[in-house]
Amino acid sequence: MSIILADFLVRKPEGYYCRYGDFYIDASAPVVHNVVSHAHGDHASSGHEYVYSTHATALFMAYRYKQNRKDAHQIKLFNSPFNMGPVEVTFLPAGHILGSAQILMEYKGVRYLYTGDYKLQPDATCEALEVQQADVLITESTFADPEICHPDPAEEIRKLDGHASNILLGTYVLGKAQRVTDLINTYCPERKVLVHNGILPYHRLYDQYGLKKLKYEPYNRKEMKQGDQNKVYLVPPMTFNSYFRATKVLRAFASGWKRLQAQNDIELYISDHVDWKDILQYINMVDPKEVWTLHGDGRILKSYFEEKLIVRDVIFA
Ligand SMILES: [Zn+2]
Repeated sequence: MSIILADFLVRKPEGYYCRYGDFYIDASAPVVHNVVSHAHGDHASSGHEYVYSTHATALFMAYRYKQNRKDAHQIKLFNSPFNMGPVEVTFLPAGHILGSAQILMEYKGVRYLYTGDYKLQPDATCEALEVQQADVLITESTFADPEICHPDPAEEIRKLDGHASNILLGTYVLGKAQRVTDLINTYCPERKVLVHNGILPYHRLYDQYGLKKLKYEPYNRKEMKQGDQNKVYLVPPMTFNSYFRATKVLRAFASGWKRLQAQNDIELYISDHVDWKDILQYINMVDPKEVWTLHGDGRILKSYFEEKLIVRDVIFA
C-alpha cells in the first residue's frame, strides 16, 4: 500500500519545499529549483537559478523580472510530465489566469496535487481548470468560508450597463484586467474599454499569446472627456486609490473581497478564486484522502469535514 508522506511538501521561509525532489513551489526568495504555478506576485518572484513554468507564466515573469537569467527558464507544457529527481511533476490548467497551472506530483505511488490559485467559473481568457484524481489535495483556501459566494460574473458585469456615465474600474493588472475586458466586450458591447499604461503590457501579451481577441484602446484623456459617456477606464489598484477625488465618473473595483467594494458606486464581485461551494465541489471531484490547506484560513474547512476527511495546514519545517 502506498503511504502518504506528511512532510512531502512543507512550508519554509523561502516557500513550499519538496525534499523528495529537492525543489520549491512558488518560492518568494531565491532558490535553486523553483516550480511556479502562475505569474502573480505572491507566487512568482525573481533571482532563482532554475524556474519551471508554463510558457505564458515564463513570458509574464520575463516581462516583470527583466534581471532574471535568460536560461533560468525551463518551459513545460500542460499535461507533459517531467522529473524533479524521483518526483514526477505535471502541470494541469488551473483556470485562474492565462498559463496558470496546478502542480501534480507523483512519488512512490501517491499523487499530490497543489492547486495554486484556481477557479471553476468560466473564463474565456485562460485555459479551463482540469480535474484529476489525487490522494492529497493541497488547496488554497483564500475564500474557504460559507459566507463567501461569488455571483455569476456575467450578471455582475451587466451592472455597468445600468448607468449613463463613464466608469473608473480598478482591477489587478494581470489576469483580472483581461478577464474584465472580455466580460465587458461580451456582455456590455456598447461599452468602450480604455486601458491604463500600467495594464497595457499585459493586455498586449494576452493579444499575442492568449486565447481570445480583446477589444480595447489605450487610455487618452481626450477620448475619455469627449463623446458618449460609455467608457470604462481600467486602472491598477494604486491608481484607483489615488483617483479617489475623481468626479464625473462612477467608481467600481473588480474583486471578491467585500472590504474592497466599500465606498464604490457600483459593487463588482468578480473573483478569480474558488468560493466555498466551489472548494467543496472541487474536493468532491478530486476525491482525495487528505486535504492540506494554504493561503488563507483552513479552519472552517477542517471542522466541516470533521471525521470524514483529514484536513490540515501544510506543516512548517
Ligand atoms: Zn493568483
